[in-house]
Amino acid sequence: MTSTLALHTDFPQRDAYGSIAMPVYHTCAYQFDDAQSMTEAFSGRSGMPDYSRVMNPTVTHLEDTVRALTHAKSVTALSSGMAAISNIFLALTAQGKNIVTSAHMFGNTYALLTRTLRRFGVETRIVDMTDVQAVRSAIDDQTACLFLEIVTNPQLEVADVTALGEIARNHRVPLVADTTFLPFTEFDGEALGIDIQVVSSTKYLSGGATSLGGLIIDYGHYPETERCIKQELLFNLGAYMTPHAAYMQTLGLQTLQVRYRQQSANALRVAQGLSSIPGIQHVGYIGLPSHPQHQLARRLYGPTGGAMVTFDLPDQSSCFRCIDRLRLILRATNLFDIKSLAIHPYSTIYVNYSAAEKAAMDVLPTTIRLSIGLEDPEDIITDIISSLRER
Ligand SMILES: *Cc1c(COP(=O)(O)O)cnc(C)c1O
Repeated sequence: MTSTLALHTDFPQRDAYGSIAMPVYHTCAYQFDDAQSMTEAFSGRSGMPDYSRVMNPTVTHLEDTVRALTHAKSVTALSSGMAAISNIFLALTAQGKNIVTSAHMFGNTYALLTRTLRRFGVETRIVDMTDVQAVRSAIDDQTACLFLEIVTNPQLEVADVTALGEIARNHRVPLVADTTFLPFTEFDGEALGIDIQVVSSTKYLSGGATSLGGLIIDYGHYPETERCIKQELLFNLGAYMTPHAAYMQTLGLQTLQVRYRQQSANALRVAQGLSSIPGIQHVGYIGLPSHPQHQLARRLYGPTGGAMVTFDLPDQSSCFRCIDRLRLILRATNLFDIKSLAIHPYSTIYVNYSAAEKAAMDVLPTTIRLSIGLEDPEDIITDIISSLRER
């Protein structure tokens, strides 16, 4: 069903030439036959685009496809994952409000919350999201939302999103989940208790590092959110996705399921292979039974474990030596590319945080983060083994 829908969602309108790929409407503006149809487009009544800062047929097609796949009420495509995340927080918060979340998350999201939004009077309350009681106690009548990553990057922590969804519902605050880590095609976000998903579509959707993008997938439980995004923020912030990125990501979405499942299988094989290498102190992968939340992750998100694997060496310099000697795995950031990538998060993504801040976020100098691609997993393991060998 998912694989069929990903390929067969209708275009907003049949293309004049019957093109079987959604055309890229590389235009900013649209011509109208008369003043009445102009006012209908500008008021949103006709569903016709008026200006590509807020609507474009190629982007609408990507949004429609994601909506069909997730059964969401509305989907908004934005220029990056961070654009999706900043837009949702700006839609939900105001001066004096607070966001209840974890210290375990992507570095720029953490900085958006604790630095940027703080300057506008929005408070971030850091709690342990795996401690349901702590989350409940942190919520008050000024809480704008609960926010978490379904699998945290790079700590690989999995909180019980269903239990958190229940708390959120009882307090009438939305549960916003960054689901970048596992594709939304693999689980039913709404059934799990998530109100709004945000996704960096730069990752699994684009697949080959072709384009930046972000998605807000809204189940419509808090209708004022959709109104704020579609009728206010798209206009005023100008972070809508470009038609070219939407085209690339529509192509990516069509092959997402097969790529993802193969990459997950490869990642499991690599995680197993690394677990028996002397000198590697710890292997992190939610698909390994040794992961502390392995069973929970399976129950919530299904049998696949995603493509991100971490491993620990004795210290930062051994990590650098290993990364320097890699010959197949690329030294690069990004995740879920079809090529395997390696990075030392402590000295890159988190380089502008103090040692104390990184300790509080459990970002360790000993960790290498891998994103496992579509290469033969035995070649990936061999590359790591030879890069660990003393010469
Ligand atoms: C990469 C990433 C983001 C940011 O996405 P961009 O598309 O790079 O802006 C946000 N959250 C998570 C979990 C990510 O991995």
